[in-house]
Amino acid sequence: MTDSSLSQSWADEGGKAPAGTRVLHVASEVYPLVKTGGLADVAAALPAAQASIGIDARLLVPGYPAVLAAASAARPVLTMTDLFGGGPARLLVGAVKGLAVPAYVLECPGHYARDGNPYLGPDGADWPDNHLRFAALGWVAARLGQGADGGWRPAIVHGHDWQAGLAPAYLALAAGPRPATVTTIHNLAYQGLFPAAAMAALDLPDRAFAVEGLEFHGQVGFLKAGLYYADRITTVSRTYAREIQEPDQGCGLDGLLRARGADLVGIVNGIDTAVWDPATDPHLPLAYSADRLDGKAAAKQVLQQRFDLPVDPHAPLFGMVTRLNRMKGVDLLIDALHAFIQQRAQLVVLGSGDRDLEAGLRWAMVENPRIVAVQLGYDEALAHLIQAGADITLVPSRSEPCGLTQLYALRYGALPLVRRTGGLADTVVNADPANVAMGTATGFLFNDPTPAALAGTIGWACGFYRDHDVWRRMQHTAMTRDFGWSVAARDYDRLYRTLVSGEMAQTA
Ligand code: ADP
Repeated sequence: MTDSSLSQSWADEGGKAPAGTRVLHVASEVYPLVKTGGLADVAAALPAAQASIGIDARLLVPGYPAVLAAASAARPVLTMTDLFGGGPARLLVGAVKGLAVPAYVLECPGHYARDGNPYLGPDGADWPDNHLRFAALGWVAARLGQGADGGWRPAIVHGHDWQAGLAPAYLALAAGPRPATVTTIHNLAYQGLFPAAAMAALDLPDRAFAVEGLEFHGQVGFLKAGLYYADRITTVSRTYAREIQEPDQGCGLDGLLRARGADLVGIVNGIDTAVWDPATDPHLPLAYSADRLDGKAAAKQVLQQRFDLPVDPHAPLFGMVTRLNRMKGVDLLIDALHAFIQQRAQLVVLGSGDRDLEAGLRWAMVENPRIVAVQLGYDEALAHLIQAGADITLVPSRSEPCGLTQLYALRYGALPLVRRTGGLADTVVNADPANVAMGTATGFLFNDPTPAALAGTIGWACGFYRDHDVWRRMQHTAMTRDFGWSVAARDYDRLYRTLVSGEMAQTA
């Protein structure tokens, strides 16, 4: 198959020829093949949404076993005898089952033929060669940017998170014309830091190991490289884009991000509205929609029965689906339990994470079995049932780059109660008097990350819950807001347009 026939076959299947800007996304995981977090969802959904508005988007991912198994139709475009110490490697391109756009798959068994988590060994520690595994990913992305696939040369190389951070560095530090580059931060807390000695194996000039480069406090910083060398930086909400320019949430990179402030934008992620739709959700006892909510009442009853809570349609039911850690504010919730008791409310938590928080929640359930229900572990079906059965979804995060659970909650009419940070601040409209009067309110926000502020807001939200008409109006507003990917796809398109007016000619 030639490259032109590949594009043609896509045009035949999708009905729309990808005539627009060529964009190569570079990501270390992609749903449904390999997923540890929201990055995988974005790597799948964003290129698909871009393709539907005419952007010619492709994806580059490592050839983990699950990816290679889905890529049997792919053909080689590049072979390498030894890729960063991983031995022989091939770059394949073609259709990958489960993905909506053509993908480049980096087959290098020495680096990626490892089952399980893409970053951690069976002992739970980082793979010791992660710097080589993801340098390889960035290096191959750069080769594609320089025209390694004669039939398809991207105008933009768009890397996601630290694992793709070296791609802009390789491109900026090489001589000759290059594509424009974008780095997207999904979570600044994960930076891909390695000892200075790693530098020797990365095939980068020594001068890159500098403050004006990829050095970060004496270490090699892969995300730092992406932030320093990319032409544009994005992150996943406007508020998080502001917050990471301050020391409090800047993780030591706030100075660089301030310096690059003019090139930094926040674009909120979308959600998969086919998977998260109460009108079609197979995990619910009864379908429902913004205009017909009896299915929501049925889900609440099933949830109460499942957890042996009193079956009471009038008790405000709070739900929370989360990783259990301090960033998510789970400790605040544990210290605010008295608010549920005072309000005769109920709380259902699904999550897993830090042992002390798991123990704290289990203890809360034992002490208050008619108020608190906890299930530890990961359960996709229950996550859907909780969003449907809850009246209010809690997201008391200290930091939240974008957040998905509040978006699902809005769509499921479980009005979100959130801390005013990151994507939570950008997607939930507080029930203050002006917003309620205008009919724009969709949830409840609090500022201080303290148990007292959270408890006060729980009480405040319960007051609203008891006013049926106002509550119903807020639910309707929340459920009819558009959080699909098309909005984000257009925002990225606007960003790309600022970059592709001419090819970036840059010499080392
Ligand atoms: P983060 O990526 O920081 O964990 P997000 O809100 O962006 O937070 O995404 C979390 C995703 O993981 C959501 O889709 C949520 O439903 C899901 N999730 C988190 N914990 C669990 C769990 N214990 N069981 C099922 N789904 C979970």
